Amino acid sequence: MKSVRVVVVGAGVIGFSTAVCVAEALPFCSVTLLAEKFSPDTTSDGAAGILFAGKFPDIPLERQRRWFKNSFDHLLDIAQSQHSPEAGVMLSSGWQIFKDVQADKKPFWSEAVIGFRFMTDSELKRFPEHKFGHAFTTIKCECSSYLPWLEKRFRKAGGLVEQRKVNSLQELSNSYDIIVNCSGLGSKLLVGDNKVYPVRGQVLKVEAPWLQHFIRDGDGKTYIFPGMHCVTIGGTRQEGDRRLQVDEGDTKGILERCSGLEPSIGKAKVLGEWVGLRPSRRNPRVEREVVQLQGRRVPVVHNYGHGGWGVTLAWGTALDALGLVRQCLHEMPLQAKL
Ligand SMILES: Cc1cc2nc3c(=O)[nH]c(=O)nc-3n(C[C@H](O)[C@H](O)[C@H](O)COP(=O)(O)OP(=O)(O)OC[C@H]3O[C@@H](n4cnc5c(N)ncnc54)[C@H](O)[C@@H]3O)c2cc1C
Repeated sequence: MKSVRVVVVGAGVIGFSTAVCVAEALPFCSVTLLAEKFSPDTTSDGAAGILFAGKFPDIPLERQRRWFKNSFDHLLDIAQSQHSPEAGVMLSSGWQIFKDVQADKKPFWSEAVIGFRFMTDSELKRFPEHKFGHAFTTIKCECSSYLPWLEKRFRKAGGLVEQRKVNSLQELSNSYDIIVNCSGLGSKLLVGDNKVYPVRGQVLKVEAPWLQHFIRDGDGKTYIFPGMHCVTIGGTRQEGDRRLQVDEGDTKGILERCSGLEPSIGKAKVLGEWVGLRPSRRNPRVEREVVQLQGRRVPVVHNYGHGGWGVTLAWGTALDALGLVRQCLHEMPLQAKL
C-alpha cells in the first residue's frame, strides 16, 4: 500500500513534468494531479516551445544553468529516440540575431545547446538590420503533443489524474500529505502571490514547409520557429495584459515583422492564431514552505512563475521540485511514512 499521498496542482508543462518526476522516483507515494484545464487548453499548449532562456536576476546562474542543461539533456534523449514524433520533440537549428553587438556575447546556456557559435559576416548579410548573431542547434518541444505523452507516462507510473478547480489549499489538506503547486498564473489566487503577473503573447501558425531554420530577433518580439507540422511565428510581449482574444493589429504587426526577416512568410498560408498569458515573475518560485491548514502543518512545494521560459526550464525545475518533495518526506513524522 502506498503510504504518502502527494497532490500536484496544474496540468501545464510544469505540472506534468513535476508529477512524472515524483511518480517515477518515489514509487511508495501515491501521486494525484489535479487541474482545472488540461491539454489542449493550457498556456503551455500554444507555446512555440523552443529551448533557450533569459536570465532571472536573483537566482544563482549556476542553478539556472543546471535547470537548462537538465531540461535540454532530457529532451535531447527524447528527440533522438523513437518517441520523438509522438512526444513532439525535435532538434531545431537556426539563428538568434541582434541589432547591436551584445556586451554579454555568450548566453549562459551556450554550452548546453549543440554547436553554439557566433554568426559569420556572410550569414549576417541576410539580415541587413542586424549586426551580430548566434548560430546553434536547440530543441523544439511542442506541448500539444508533449503534454499527452507526459500524461501517458505519468499514468504508467501509477499516477492519478482528476479535472477540478482548487479554490484554496485548505480543500486539499485532509486528503493529501504533501501539496505541490504548479498552477502558473493561478498562483496569484491559489496562494495569494501578487508577484506573479501575465505577459500576453500572440502567435500565428502558418504553413511554410520550405522553412527549416528558426530565426529569432534577440528582442524576443519577432520570431519564426519551424515545427513538426507548421511554423509558429510571433510575437508580442504585453505586460499586465490579460486579453485572451486575438488582436488584428498584433496579427498584422507579426506578419510584417516576420516578413522583414524572411520575405517568403508573405506566401505562407495562415492556419491559426493563438494567444497565451505567460505566468511571469521576477524569479520563478521553486521552494518549499510549511503551511498551517485546518490545524495541520502541511508541506507545500512551489514550482511556478517561469514566464516566457517554462518549456525550456520545465524538466530542470521539476527535478528541483522532486528534491524538495524528498526533503519534505525526510521531515515528516515516521508514522506518516509507514
Ligand atoms: C506566445 C507564447 C510563446 C511561448 N514560447 C515559449 C518558448 O518558445 N519556450 C519556452 O520555454 N516557453 C515559451 N512560452 C512560455 C511557456 O508557455 C510558459 O512558461 C509555460 O507554459 C508555463 O507552464 P505552466 O505549467 O506553469 O502553466 P500553464 O500551462 O498555464 O498551466 C497551469 C495549470 O495550472 C492549472 N491551474 C491554475 N490554477 C488552478 C486552480 N486554482 N485549480 C486547479 N488548477 C489550476 C491550470 O488549469 C493549468 O492546468 C511561451 C508562452 C507564450 C504565451
